[in-house]
Amino acid sequence: MQADYQLHGDVALITLNNPPVNGLGYATRVAAMEALAQALADAAVQAIVITGAGKAFCGGADIREFGTPMAFQEPNLHTLIAALEQSTKPVVAAIHSTVMGGGLELALACHYRVAAPGTQVAMPEVKLGLLPGAGGTQRLPRVVGVEAALNMIVSGQAVASERLAAIPGQSLFQRMSASADSLLDEAVEFARSVVAVRPLPLVRVLPCSHPQGDAYFQFVRNMLGPSSRNLPAPLQCVDAVQAATRQAFDTGLATERTIFERLMATPQSRALRHLFTAERAASKIPDVPPGTALRPVASVAIIGAGTMGSGIAMNFLNAGIPVQLLELQPEALERGVATMRRNYAAQVSKGKLKPATLEQRMALLRTTLRYEELAQADLVIEAVFEDMGVKAAVFQALDRVMKPGAILASNTSTLDLNLIAACTQRPQDVVGLHFFSPANVMKLLEVVRGDKTAPDVLATVMALAKKIRKTAVVSGVCDGFIGNRMVEQYLRQAGFLLDEGCSPQQVDKAMEAFGMAMGPFRMSDLAGNDIGWAIRKRRAIENPGMRYSPTADAVCELGRFGQKSGAGWYDYVAGKRDALPSADVAAAIAACRSALGITPRTIGAPEIVQRLVFALVNEAAHILEEGIALLAGDIDIVYLYGYGFPAFRGGPMRYADELGLFTVAQTMRRFAANPHADPGFWQAAPLLASLAAAGRTFT
Ligand code: NAD
Repeated sequence: MQADYQLHGDVALITLNNPPVNGLGYATRVAAMEALAQALADAAVQAIVITGAGKAFCGGADIREFGTPMAFQEPNLHTLIAALEQSTKPVVAAIHSTVMGGGLELALACHYRVAAPGTQVAMPEVKLGLLPGAGGTQRLPRVVGVEAALNMIVSGQAVASERLAAIPGQSLFQRMSASADSLLDEAVEFARSVVAVRPLPLVRVLPCSHPQGDAYFQFVRNMLGPSSRNLPAPLQCVDAVQAATRQAFDTGLATERTIFERLMATPQSRALRHLFTAERAASKIPDVPPGTALRPVASVAIIGAGTMGSGIAMNFLNAGIPVQLLELQPEALERGVATMRRNYAAQVSKGKLKPATLEQRMALLRTTLRYEELAQADLVIEAVFEDMGVKAAVFQALDRVMKPGAILASNTSTLDLNLIAACTQRPQDVVGLHFFSPANVMKLLEVVRGDKTAPDVLATVMALAKKIRKTAVVSGVCDGFIGNRMVEQYLRQAGFLLDEGCSPQQVDKAMEAFGMAMGPFRMSDLAGNDIGWAIRKRRAIENPGMRYSPTADAVCELGRFGQKSGAGWYDYVAGKRDALPSADVAAAIAACRSALGITPRTIGAPEIVQRLVFALVNEAAHILEEGIALLAGDIDIVYLYGYGFPAFRGGPMRYADELGLFTVAQTMRRFAANPHADPGFWQAAPLLASLAAAGRTFT
């Protein structure tokens, strides 16, 4: 049963019971309707309390039903909400922990609401490109006022129940319980106190207006304008709430419904819903069962206190996990510690961190020059130079000193994890933890699974990723793993665009208008152009047939390594991040073009975007086919959190699906016919070709 039914004397208690968050899927709706009918049919029942089992009142609609006939299957959410509202006996919602979306809409249809302190209250639909579609835009403004309701609906952010209860004149909560533990008793007692009240109070009859009327809504639209350029939902939330102030309640509901259906059909909402599901799917690994016993991780050691090591350390300190940092030289340790303190101090000066918290975090950090001192750490993460010889020596040392069962991780970006694991007698304990720079900021963590990595090691690091607030995606072993392997092809294609006539600014502008956080050349300047240079030198030996534009090497030969050297694809003024066009780079590009014998042509933004995104997609198809990534959605998550791919496009795979893989394949064929194209580049990956031919999709 997905809803429990109990009698507390003359009060019936209905408990939604669909773990983890009591989502209102079909079976739960049926059970809730049956429980309600039972309470109404029982002459001994005078009032009804509805609550949720476990760690939520109700997390809302079941998103897996979105866009499927199941969402409409009766009793649908609207029917359940109407039944509660029309109950002839008073219904009290006893709200605790979390109440979101459809769960809040359900509570708003009850006659009364009693909430526990600390409850997180949210209408998060906008994050899926939608609006609350079961009366939320019409009822919430009637109980907390137009401004508070619109803020919640447009931002999707959770607000604590106490804050809402403090709004003057609010009628969202009739009572706050003394504690979460006393909630049910207090709700039952409250229900008894209102059994005789008639007519039953309904949110729908409350007035709804804003003192500034339409001018207020126009102000909100102006504020939202630029930030919602690519997302229709926020502005349409405003329309729906404005309708609540202008239309009769049922007309307002119909308006909300129309807008909801329109948003549901937008590519933006499809993209956001895809990412929501993909993110949850990424944390599950098919051959690692959910109940796998985890290894305890109470302390962490990090080898190397450079750019990555110091950033990685901060993640664990932030989560309250003690860290030991090991370096070769005391000066390197001092530099690393100073970097961390500086990063925290910057947060303090922005008011994002309390000075006392800074000290608490730094107090969890120990430094050492001796491996023996790390022996008892549960997890060690190596972040030394990207050199197989150096890494091999580090892993041999770790194998010698670390206690049995310790997890040995490498942050390598390109080296073969299986070779690293083979430097130890315990390859089952070795895993890749590929953080992205800056490691204390970027949300993505690629978890690299070696041939021998043990399932419980994988399960442990996936759980640990959540603890340090990273989104983890599992990758198999290959050069560059998922993200950097794809980006190499993206950057190669960006170079070809320069050869054929683009400037770096043009390419970056096109990609940023598409929605990327940064175009490829600004991104390279941030990451350091020397990284790509080293990779190209390695490729020249391993794979001499691989063609690159000569421009990137030319820029590096000028010593232009990017922001860190004060010049890269762009010029930089000291202390500023503004990327200024460079005459030297323009001259280098022109020289390369004439050496290649290419007469430059004007290339439009659509071609720039398609060539770069399809370069990602085609490599991703290889990655998927080889089993390096398990799901197309994993690749989209990597690009969302690691490379600034726009969420409203859903990631490269979802974007390709939205265009249609047949169209993608056709367009690639057209690109291949370009006389300056690298002959192999646009050869469609077998998976892409077969899906395109079959009219199927990646996701
Ligand atoms: P870095 O040069 O900033 O830092 C490396 C540190 O390791 C230095 O402080 C050095 O003194 C120390 N070190 C070298 N050999 C050592 C040894 N034997 N024992 C102890 N310490 C030693 O380099 P980084 O950018 O932090 O990169 C570290 C690793 O992270 C590399 O494998 C790199 O590929 C990977 N990585 C880098 C990035 C990035 O954007 N920089 C992103 C992801 C992964």
